[in-house]
Amino acid sequence: MILVNKYILSILTGNFASAITIWPFIFLRDKRSASDPILVNHEKIHLKQQLEMLLLFFYIIYALDYIRNRMNGMNSRVAYFNIRFEKEAYAYEKDLNYLSNRKAYHWWRL
Ligand SMILES: [Zn+2]
Repeated sequence: MILVNKYILSILTGNFASAITIWPFIFLRDKRSASDPILVNHEKIHLKQQLEMLLLFFYIIYALDYIRNRMNGMNSRVAYFNIRFEKEAYAYEKDLNYLSNRKAYHWWRL
């Protein structure tokens, strides 16, 4: 379910992101984002990852990946792009058919 709410984005990401996905919701900053198929596909990939990780484990691994990356000397931006779930989402966001033939836990092999 897609919701447009700039306040949620601001609270949860400090204006860093234009979208955030917390199953079953995709929160977008503005209506223009809702008509961006690549952005929406990126967030739908996160929905799939969250479901297969039973939600809780997605957030744990997401946070641990980020912390590990920062401890390895990456700045916050690079650390974010190297979170395993983000690597999959960015690698395949432009493939709008990706979710129909995606292998489960594909992020694990990236
Ligand atoms: Zn993402």
